[in-house]
Amino acid sequence: MPQSRLRLADEAVNGQIDLHCHSTASDGILSPEALVSRAKSAGVTLLALTDHDTVAGYAQARDAAEKAGIFLLPGIELTARWGRQVVHVVGLNVDPESAAIGGAIAERGRLRDARALEIAARLEKRGFSGAMAGARQHAGEGVIGRPHFARWLVEAGYLPDEAKAFKRYLGAGKTGDVSVDWPDMGTTVASIHAAGGAAVLAHPLKYGLTRMRLQSLLGEFQEAGGDAVEVVCGQQNPVQTREILALLERVSASRSGGRALRASLGSDFHQPDQPWRELGSVHLPADVEPVWALWRG
Ligand SMILES: [Zn+2]
Ligand SMILES: [Zn+2]
Repeated sequence: MPQSRLRLADEAVNGQIDLHCHSTASDGILSPEALVSRAKSAGVTLLALTDHDTVAGYAQARDAAEKAGIFLLPGIELTARWGRQVVHVVGLNVDPESAAIGGAIAERGRLRDARALEIAARLEKRGFSGAMAGARQHAGEGVIGRPHFARWLVEAGYLPDEAKAFKRYLGAGKTGDVSVDWPDMGTTVASIHAAGGAAVLAHPLKYGLTRMRLQSLLGEFQEAGGDAVEVVCGQQNPVQTREILALLERVSASRSGGRALRASLGSDFHQPDQPWRELGSVHLPADVEPVWALWRG
């Protein structure tokens, strides 16, 4: 078994909670320390750092969290595949040293490296020379993702802003949209469990699925052993929150047996100039079973 999961004291869960955010270890722009200090200023008492496909920022964040006096859960946001749909599964309270997380990260690192080379080659073909070196510079030690190419395209003066970079070159269906055969959702949930963590389906409304498809996704996530769903995440209004809760109710009604999916929440914070997904800006409705109840007592 992996290390015993961190247990949460009252002070951790009685304040502001944010279980989804990114640092420079993936595509966020704040260092793990700066992120923790921003969370502290926002009144966050329980934070999970959930970088894309890496736990490289955890040790620094943990030291900063200890100094700041806030609780930090080790986390990760794993890229996965549900059929042909890319989905994100957040692992919370995973053992960052475990072989299971190490293996999941290494596999995705290989896939991401191959994808970055392909994106760079395609951008070069379009006349954007230096794409790989540029994206590498923005990613630093971290894994290269599309946002790094976007930042480089802006910095190099090719485009006025990152949104345009996605709209014209990196977004769905564009030249830089290179498909990757990510590990499937069930395998991903299993990796998180093997690392002692809880598997949370991230931002269910961001996949552009019809309500019917989303209900299937939630049902299959539950059947795969998934523990919780992000009922609230940045960029979401109360009507959308109620929609997710209604879908969850339908899923648990249609699939008898099995545990109901719990509720998680996170800002999906990446950078300070996006107030709609600011650290600590999310709140769960009162009548849901929160994911952190798993680590109480
Ligand atoms: Zn995500
Ligand atoms: Zn995220």
